[in-house]
Amino acid sequence: MLNKRNIWVFILMILVLANCAKVPVTGRSQLSIVKNSELIPMSFNQYDGVLEKSNLSKDQEQVAKIKKVGTRIQQAVEKYLSEQGQRNVLNGFEWEFNLIEEETVNAWSMPGGKVAFYTGILPICQDGIGIAVVMGHEVAHAIANHGRERMSQGLVANLGLATLSMATQSNQSLTNQILLQSVGAGTQLGILKFSRIHESEADRMGLIFMSIAGYDPTASPAFWERMARLPEGQKVPDWLSTHPSNSTRISDLKKSMPEALTYYKLK
Ligand SMILES: [Zn+2]
Repeated sequence: MLNKRNIWVFILMILVLANCAKVPVTGRSQLSIVKNSELIPMSFNQYDGVLEKSNLSKDQEQVAKIKKVGTRIQQAVEKYLSEQGQRNVLNGFEWEFNLIEEETVNAWSMPGGKVAFYTGILPICQDGIGIAVVMGHEVAHAIANHGRERMSQGLVANLGLATLSMATQSNQSLTNQILLQSVGAGTQLGILKFSRIHESEADRMGLIFMSIAGYDPTASPAFWERMARLPEGQKVPDWLSTHPSNSTRISDLKKSMPEALTYYKLK
């Protein structure tokens, strides 16, 4: 029985190892069971659906500002990836930067280069550089394929449980339960840990992208300090809740600053 179970675990591990990609900038290995050619069209559909249901901002000046910063960061990313010989990361991308009229202090992105800002985050951004801090972070999530990685992790988590359960069907039920519980807890913790890694990775990459685009990266910690001063009730956006505390984020950003400044000074 043990041998049979080991075979299933082995098959699963081969599957995981054969479906890995490397994140640009950081070089971290990530799971990529889903392909961008399948994921990106689904993402575009979902993005269009959200926009249809949303109240897009009619403030032409603000809308233009979001699109301008987005385009500058997009061009910086394209330049960076071309220089690194990694332009294929952008296959299937169709960039879009939209502003939604909503008080929530938030911004988000979807696979394939789709970004949305809420008007509620603009007072915290204050200006173009503040927008570039958030834009760099959101574009980084898309470039790092964090959405694809999370989906792949979810698939493996479910597939892992299914195959293990199949493999141990003939074992005593108690053994099965313990096994399933430990695998279940393990996979859940793993995914939680990864999403924090995603946030930190997007911060570091975003800092570099904004620097290449010509925005002073040293303005970034000040943005997060303004974010930290928000009243408790307003600190709920998704992209902050999974993140390390603001103070950890600010100290990590300061550590990444010398690296980012080498790109800023190259301008
Ligand atoms: Zn994020």
